[in-house]
Amino acid sequence: MSNSTTKENTTQTRPFAVFNTVSRSIEPLKTALPGKVSLYCCGPTVYDYQHIGNFKTFIFEDVLVRSLRFAGFEVNHVMNITDVGHLVGDGDDGEDKMLVAVKREKKKSAEIAEYYTKIFFEDWDKLNLSRPSIVCKATEHIQQMIALIQRIEQNGFTYVAGGNVYFDTSKSANYGHLARLNLEKLKAGARVELDANKRNPSDFVLWFTKSKFENQELQWESPWGRGYPGWHIECSAMSMQYLGEHFDIHCGGIDHIPVHHTNEIAQSEAALQKSWVPLWMHSEFIMVNAEKMSKSKGKFLILDDVIERGLDPLVYRFLCLNSHYRSQLNFTWDILENAGKAFDKLKSAVLSFKASFGSSAPALLPEESLDDTAAALSHRFMSAVCDDLNMPLAISVLWETVNSKDLDSAHKLTLLYRMDQVLGLKMEDWAEVSLEIPPEIDVLLNQRAQARKDRQWARSDELRAELQQLGYTVTDDASGQKVRRS
Ligand code: AMP
Ligand code: ZN
Repeated sequence: MSNSTTKENTTQTRPFAVFNTVSRSIEPLKTALPGKVSLYCCGPTVYDYQHIGNFKTFIFEDVLVRSLRFAGFEVNHVMNITDVGHLVGDGDDGEDKMLVAVKREKKKSAEIAEYYTKIFFEDWDKLNLSRPSIVCKATEHIQQMIALIQRIEQNGFTYVAGGNVYFDTSKSANYGHLARLNLEKLKAGARVELDANKRNPSDFVLWFTKSKFENQELQWESPWGRGYPGWHIECSAMSMQYLGEHFDIHCGGIDHIPVHHTNEIAQSEAALQKSWVPLWMHSEFIMVNAEKMSKSKGKFLILDDVIERGLDPLVYRFLCLNSHYRSQLNFTWDILENAGKAFDKLKSAVLSFKASFGSSAPALLPEESLDDTAAALSHRFMSAVCDDLNMPLAISVLWETVNSKDLDSAHKLTLLYRMDQVLGLKMEDWAEVSLEIPPEIDVLLNQRAQARKDRQWARSDELRAELQQLGYTVTDDASGQKVRRS
């Protein structure tokens, strides 16, 4: 469904194409207001640590925001914090995830939300993600959710059963379009025992008044009785609150397509009585052993695991940048270590370009004074980014720039710093850190350097392993051994 107020972008912004889950195709970006993008991204459920899989999605969203800004758009980025209503099962079954954590940690849900939100933003900053323009908490927007449910009710899309307010998906003309759901199949395969109150298996709860759990602490007064909201309504209510009833892009991970985003669309269009968001973008999963990394399955890695392994959190960001956001990424420590090696190589190259300016600041060049080789590389980088965030191609242009025989350090740094506006690797901050090497480590390093000179590779590997055990990671490049604390 297209928005009648949509206009082509003006010339200040570059042409930008994106894959729209609605049409399953790459489309030119059109925004309601020329040069401006209003963007809503589903945020974390703060009942546990966010795993690195979650952060793959947040990295994709950050790269989208940075790329849009790079292409000249002004971006208004809103993200929610889910601190109520997200049940363990997507089909309104299971406990509220926050209450699972209340039992697990024997704390108040507000304390749990505060703790995991704090850690979430610490990790967010370590990954150099840009802070959204607005971050909004579900528990602070209950009145907006109630008002939206009332609007949906007035338009005849709800029923009350067993004390809960349900959305009647059979009233929604286009229900399931985003996910290409087959409603007949859904009906045939429905597990009726899950919720006997539902008239259709795809119906969902807008407001729970019959808490399934005793002493449920998350409750508010409402026209339907004391209770709490369903999960989906929060994103419709908060996005409309901060971005208006229509906005340009809605993002999330692909797990949200069949239920959460499908239901957000159904209820929002039922309230508005017209089409809602024209462009939906979704990122693919991080997988571990061919399974989605997920909190509920209990097998997940967090950013601290990466740090404990002696790797810079930005190495994880770099790993994600090397694959397309619409491709699955099979996580292994090996691929992360390899990304770490490539990251170190990039860092050494950038540091050597910086070193060529001695202690003075690098002389960066204005865009119009780039020579032809540099201008072509810059153009190719920009084109890759603006073509549905083709970051693997963009990164290959980055390496061409690094390795070019035709560019001097000033051209290289100028291009790399520009590229880093999208990549977010903090290249401008990179600096040689002088590491205090204790004498016994220095002895081992010298022995290893000698072993390499004598082409005694097995001995050199042995010494590297010994140094690793003592907390020093050694890598080699053309200029010799590089050592860092692991
Ligand atoms: P949650 O905290 O579960 O609400 O998820 C936060 C974000 O992470 C959502 O956009 C999810 O779609 C996304 N997500 C969840 N699991 C993964 C995964 N394994 N890989 C990538 N994104 C994920
Ligand atoms: Zn959401």
